[in-house]
Amino acid sequence: MGYAEDDYLMLSGIQHFAFCRKQWALIHIEQQWAENYRTTAGELMHKKAHEEGAFEKRGNLMIVRGMRIASHELGFSGQCDVVEFHQNENGIELFGYDGKWNPVPIEYKRGTPKEYNADELQLCAQAICLEEMLQTAIGAGYLYYGENRRRSSVEFTDALRLEVKNMSKEMHDLFARGYTPNVKSAKKCRSCSLENICVPRLQKGIKVRKYIEQNMKMKQEC
Ligand code: SF4
Repeated sequence: MGYAEDDYLMLSGIQHFAFCRKQWALIHIEQQWAENYRTTAGELMHKKAHEEGAFEKRGNLMIVRGMRIASHELGFSGQCDVVEFHQNENGIELFGYDGKWNPVPIEYKRGTPKEYNADELQLCAQAICLEEMLQTAIGAGYLYYGENRRRSSVEFTDALRLEVKNMSKEMHDLFARGYTPNVKSAKKCRSCSLENICVPRLQKGIKVRKYIEQNMKMKQEC
């Protein structure tokens, strides 16, 4: 059981999906997008971390940036910010290099750790892709946060792996049906880059007519 390549979804969409199902659907199904400070700053940080295909070797450590990854099982494709290969006798052989190596994915994030586990889920999905591609097992990876310049270890537990797999199924199901779910507005909507497109207040029961009147009034007052 797995997905055909044509049906692969963007692995980075896990971030949007974990934040809000509707935000993910607006971006990935309806192809709507809007930049705000958070997305622009995050994008710049990722460009720096990716430097696609860049490779470095320091003794018993190899660093690959912007490595392309995919998983047939999850139906995701994407890119790892950084994959470190640590020399270890229990690791895997890599073509062209002596010794054995253990891959460790590292994801760079602007800001500080989130209140929900979107970053951990994204990193775990990357690990599942690497495991499938390199035929190995990966126990943990790291999240690096730009604001406190720290990296924290993330263990890929069975529970986290199951959450990733269930999320993948839900995303593929919505995508296949082209369905954008309705979601109640919440505090997080204030930091959502798609607030003006989604207009979550309309879902709270404000009548369309009243909403238009409020907006007209605001424009006249400006
Ligand atoms: S504004 Fe709120 S409900 Fe709408 S997509 Fe963003 S987070 Fe989701």
